[in-house]
Amino acid sequence: MSDPLLQIEGLQAGYGDVQVLWDVTIRVMPGEITCIVGSNGAGKTTLLRTVSGLIQPRAGSIRLQGQELAGETADAVLGAGIAHVPEGRRLFKGMSVRDNLLLGAYLRRDRQEVEQDLEFVLDTFPILKERAHQDATTMSGGEQQMCAIGRGIMSRPKLLMIDELSLGLAPRLVDTLGEALQAVNRTGLTILLVEQDVITALELASTGFVIETGRVTMTGSADALADDPRIKEAYMGL
Ligand code: ATP
Repeated sequence: MSDPLLQIEGLQAGYGDVQVLWDVTIRVMPGEITCIVGSNGAGKTTLLRTVSGLIQPRAGSIRLQGQELAGETADAVLGAGIAHVPEGRRLFKGMSVRDNLLLGAYLRRDRQEVEQDLEFVLDTFPILKERAHQDATTMSGGEQQMCAIGRGIMSRPKLLMIDELSLGLAPRLVDTLGEALQAVNRTGLTILLVEQDVITALELASTGFVIETGRVTMTGSADALADDPRIKEAYMGL
């Protein structure tokens, strides 16, 4: 078995006096789509923000290919190869789709490869090609999500983390996005997906982690989790 791309161990994090994550251990294998599922408020966003260096952990380690990232700045984490597509997309108003995408590459100096990656993103999400010169924030929610994912890809990361892929989007659009992500994954990009929509997440991923009130409570192959009666009852309304 290969080594994990990302290994999170014993992670503790929170805000002020409030501890949100308790001893979280998660591994992401290279080349896979891994998902973290859990209800609203379980700590999923806090976990991604801690991995990205936006929140400093209180304890634990976050290693990317063995390199310790706990305590690093957000720029250093991005430079090491982790891109974070935040919940709510956070595109820049007054800037075109193209410029929003290029912002994802702001740490890169390999301009020719940046152009190639831009072509790849525009081929993956053809609607962004049509809208390349439009203010990104005037697009529909689904188009903005594509742009936010594209911006993440533009940093040429080793790991792409996406917070709430499907939130607020129509099911058909979620399917389109899911297919695009699987195509991106097949090019070799490892993806960590955080989702409240457990069914969607387990369909896309090969491995899953369940997080409840800041603790990992279950893990396994996505198929096994989708078949688990506890998951069906708690998250699928079955
Ligand atoms: P969601 O799906 O709503 O994003 P989540 O699983 O991502 O949920 P978090 O956003 O990580 O959950 O929130 C986990 C806990 O941390 C919640 O109890 C929340 O109220 C608390 N929390 C989040 N942000 C802050 C903050 N800036 N200050 C204090 N507490 C916070």
